[in-house]
Amino acid sequence: MEKHELVIVGGSAGGLQTAICAQKHHGLKDILVIRMEEKVMVPCGIPYIYGTLGAVEKNIMPDKLLGEAKLKIGEAVSIDRKNKTVKLKNGEEIGYNKLVIATGSTPLQPPIPGMDKKNVWFAWKNTDYLQELAKAIEGVGDIVVIGGGFIGLEFADECRKKGHKITVVELLEHCLQLVCSTDLCIRAEDSLKTSGVNIITGNGVKSINGKEKAGSVTLQSGEEIKCDMVIVGIGVVPNVKLAKDAGLEIGPTRGIKVDEFQRTNDPDIFAVGDCAEKYSFFNGEPVPIRLASVATREGKIAAANLFEPQWRNIGTIGVFSTVIGDTAMAMAGLTDTQAQKLGYDVIVGEAEAASRHPGTMPDARPMRVRLAFDRRSGKILGGCVCCTMTVGEVSNIIATAIVNEMTMEQIAMCPIGTHPFLTASPLAYQFTDAASNALHKVKNMVKAA
Ligand SMILES: Cc1cc2nc3c(=O)[nH]c(=O)nc-3n(C[C@H](O)[C@H](O)[C@H](O)COP(=O)(O)OP(=O)(O)OC[C@H]3O[C@@H](n4cnc5c(N)ncnc54)[C@H](O)[C@@H]3O)c2cc1C
Repeated sequence: MEKHELVIVGGSAGGLQTAICAQKHHGLKDILVIRMEEKVMVPCGIPYIYGTLGAVEKNIMPDKLLGEAKLKIGEAVSIDRKNKTVKLKNGEEIGYNKLVIATGSTPLQPPIPGMDKKNVWFAWKNTDYLQELAKAIEGVGDIVVIGGGFIGLEFADECRKKGHKITVVELLEHCLQLVCSTDLCIRAEDSLKTSGVNIITGNGVKSINGKEKAGSVTLQSGEEIKCDMVIVGIGVVPNVKLAKDAGLEIGPTRGIKVDEFQRTNDPDIFAVGDCAEKYSFFNGEPVPIRLASVATREGKIAAANLFEPQWRNIGTIGVFSTVIGDTAMAMAGLTDTQAQKLGYDVIVGEAEAASRHPGTMPDARPMRVRLAFDRRSGKILGGCVCCTMTVGEVSNIIATAIVNEMTMEQIAMCPIGTHPFLTASPLAYQFTDAASNALHKVKNMVKAA
């Protein structure tokens, strides 16, 4: 029987990062990665296949990232924890010393009547399926996108670029509401509306109608919308069957329970990525944040802890970024609503300035940073930024400040570097100025009291 020092089930963001880091961290050479698909999609690139990239082949993760790790294509169907083996669908058994489960997630399929019709599509991370979707999209006119989260909006925006007539249906009051502050949600909606996308919020899809194929959807309000195709992007379900059948514990958000070292209740088995439970950085409670950036971070942590606990997972915060139309936006940590629910007394600081200086530099655009702090401790809880192409990096800075529990004073005093082509002026640097703005508000409140 084939046996390896480290076996990883799953070859996408979480599994791949574990393999990369186990080699770097421990110099481990005897690693086997088992995954179901011949070619792995870059998961975050999937919506862009249908517009910007133009082809499934342009969205593939290169296998050279595996380094010296070996690769086996197959489906793991069971784990024998006593004998430390993984069984594949073809009957093959593979022994492990340490096992990392990185089986990811699959699209959530809500129980809406008509969901099983031929032209109803999901964001499956599967090359063949996405190839079929690419062919199917070519021939259609009207598309209904169910779900106004970032996956739904990215699909909507890419498809409208190709000339399709798009309607997005979102159950909540605003698109992106679960991850963004309301002003950013409205900006994203406005950007799509301006480019001709029909946005319906505060309304769900009651049924998908048609014989074999969907020809329309009926909303909870009773309105009927004609369509040639439906794309569903309303969340994911962690793939935990393999772990559950092996007796590993499952948590409240349906992920595999792990400790702060990414260990399951079996000390030789770790879990990372979408299949693993996440715990909030703010209060340690389970949170359903499932992102590639979280999966890779957990892969690094698991790899470091394979043979002895070294790196602790200090908890998960969401860091999201996207571009809708020509509006780029990003968000890290808690929204105001989430922070208030956790009992924080939220105070907001804001700053807007040209992204380059002087503001007459070519392509200078207004960039706005909004930071939320806890008034009592002064610590940063979250922040959002729009609308320049650097927002992704700024939200990463905000995330760094959050996990280091920086206060408004510390951020206001942060050292910064600036350049006319690259940043705002040092007189109006948005990140530090937003913290100063919050600080002044607090000082004025104290004076007024
Ligand atoms: C359309 C879309 C856009 C997204 N955009 C972003 C974004 O912009 N930023 C971001 O951070 N996140 C984004 N995400 C989320 C991100 O894709 C996931 O968080 C990420 O893919 C999780 O990685 P993972 O390795 O945990 O799991 P997955 O990517 O789900 O991979 C699971 C792997 O496990 C393998 N596997 C599963 N079961 C078995 C088995 N039994 N045997 C063998 N192999 C198995 C699969 O073959 C696959 O290789 C997006 C997701 C989607 C769908």
